[in-house]
Amino acid sequence: MPLPKQVTLVEVSPRDGLQNESIFIPTDVKIQFIEQLAQSGLKHIELTSLVSPQWIPQLADQVEVIQKTKTFPDVDYSVLVPNEHGYAQAQKLKVKHIAVFTAASDTFCQKNINRTLAQSLIDYEKIVKDAKAKKILVRGYISCVLGCPYEGKIAPEAVLDVAQQLLAMGCDELSIGDTIGVGTVHGVRILCELLLKHIPIDKLAVHFHDTYGQALANIYAALQLGIHIVDASVAGLGGCPYAKGASGNVATEDVLYMLNGLGIETGVSMEKLLAADRFICQHLNRPSRSKVANALF
Ligand code: MG
Repeated sequence: MPLPKQVTLVEVSPRDGLQNESIFIPTDVKIQFIEQLAQSGLKHIELTSLVSPQWIPQLADQVEVIQKTKTFPDVDYSVLVPNEHGYAQAQKLKVKHIAVFTAASDTFCQKNINRTLAQSLIDYEKIVKDAKAKKILVRGYISCVLGCPYEGKIAPEAVLDVAQQLLAMGCDELSIGDTIGVGTVHGVRILCELLLKHIPIDKLAVHFHDTYGQALANIYAALQLGIHIVDASVAGLGGCPYAKGASGNVATEDVLYMLNGLGIETGVSMEKLLAADRFICQHLNRPSRSKVANALF
């Protein structure tokens, strides 16, 4: 399988990134950051999560962010919807693209979203079916696909089972996440090869964390199988508070550097991405976790 000619980078820093940073970023700064990301050429940005502010105070300004961010017609903006309440809010706010979040591990589901895996799928079925009837796009996240902090190794068949249930509900795209970053190329290949036997390639995205420095290698392994939707987070913002020792999401700049080197098109400007990195890191008062940003600044 030749490498894809084009890759869509899904920028998760405003949600998956900032929700795991200790500092609350003021709303106007957040909005400016998101607008910078859009201007860099990214085509899909996850804006925020309609989660209870009690759970994630970093995203307490979710409604304002959705209402006030200047959107560009060629950029797709999605919002994470953790439950029925969040979905009702999303409808009021006229959100056109939602994301739901579950895991391939039952224990992780219970600790992270307070429901069993089976219950999460029952709850999401109502949401996803209703959303599809209203022509709202739905992205489904499956976390812990290559390992769980509580259950250890996760069988690829367990991931496939959740993936097929989410697709049967009507999810337009699935993002499979190595939430604790334990996966290596070998595991990525086995998992993606199995999934691609059952799932159209245009519906599958990969979401890797760099805990053990494996994220770029894992992304490359996915590209070799033709996968062409990759989640990433500017400056490596985020991580996972429930996954012990989990460091951040793979940095978008680092993924872009690799894709540029491979001659794969993304439409994203490195210069503008680095400007967004510098901007948000100044406000977080910490250095970037992007190796490219650190090499160039
Ligand atoms: Mg992540």
